[in-house]
Amino acid sequence: MFENLSDKLNSVFKKLKGQGTLTEKNIDDGLKEVRFALLEADVHYRIVKQFIADIRERAVGADVLESLTPGQQVIKIVYEELTRLMGETRQDLNLTGQAPVSVMLVGLQGSGKTTTAAKLAVYLKKQGRKPFLVPADVYRPAAIDQLKKLGSQVQVPVFASDPGMNPVDICRQARVAAQQQGCNTLLLDTAGRLHIDEALMEELVGIKQAVSPSDILLVADAMTGQDAVNIAQSFNERLDIGGVILSKMDGDARGGAALSIKAVTGRPIKFVGVGEKTNALEAFHPDRMASSILG
Ligand code: GDP
Repeated sequence: MFENLSDKLNSVFKKLKGQGTLTEKNIDDGLKEVRFALLEADVHYRIVKQFIADIRERAVGADVLESLTPGQQVIKIVYEELTRLMGETRQDLNLTGQAPVSVMLVGLQGSGKTTTAAKLAVYLKKQGRKPFLVPADVYRPAAIDQLKKLGSQVQVPVFASDPGMNPVDICRQARVAAQQQGCNTLLLDTAGRLHIDEALMEELVGIKQAVSPSDILLVADAMTGQDAVNIAQSFNERLDIGGVILSKMDGDARGGAALSIKAVTGRPIKFVGVGEKTNALEAFHPDRMASSILG
């Protein structure tokens, strides 16, 4: 993750620290390189522009330039602004409401939704909750089998969805079944398509209206960069999502989606997927991510 960006930022910082005293020109030269590094990392250009302007405003002040360690101060400012860019504080799942609560997972086919449902089940079990997996993708019978397999692997019950049922009925009946089995958190694995289309969105809106989920999470593939950001924006416009899970971060060397999604959509990244295994899910902490970018 972020290998190139980290390398580039560190070389800028090395130069700034090496200079002892800094002038406005030194800062501007450094920020130009930061700008290039962010664009190369596939961060949305509007976000880069604002980000650089915010840093510049703070960095060219007398309290920074006349401090004993101006280079260090600039690094601190970049760290704080990176943290702010990614949402400042950790946002966990929203599980408020009368039990059993539902968490709806949405996203395009292949984004990692089904795998993420199983990962979240593991996460919730560790939190002492009783998850219940619900396959609600009736168009790909393989998706139902995949979730059944994953459920037995992580020892979490899976609703016996029938591909002949409609997804809204599945979600409604699953709620009753969850209650009967003493489960308090439904994870709804909804259908995905290769592209966003009206039928997909309407179905998801229908499920949202029928089950009033506590949280709606978009699972987006980090490796698709700005496409993931655009997808997040489209899903958010229709569904008012609660957050994003960025999957496949282990394969994403650039980091553009992770850095842009909050700023573009206003919705936080709540988790990142870092591998295919069911334990490869990490809570997203903007401050820790900023530290790891700065090395
Ligand atoms: P769905 O169509 O959205 O339900 O996607 P799947 O859950 O079937 O995942 C598609 C592929 O991505 C599978 O091969 C998963 O193993 C893989 N995958 C999912 N999440 C991750 C991740 O965080 N890292 C990696 N490397 N692979 C992942």
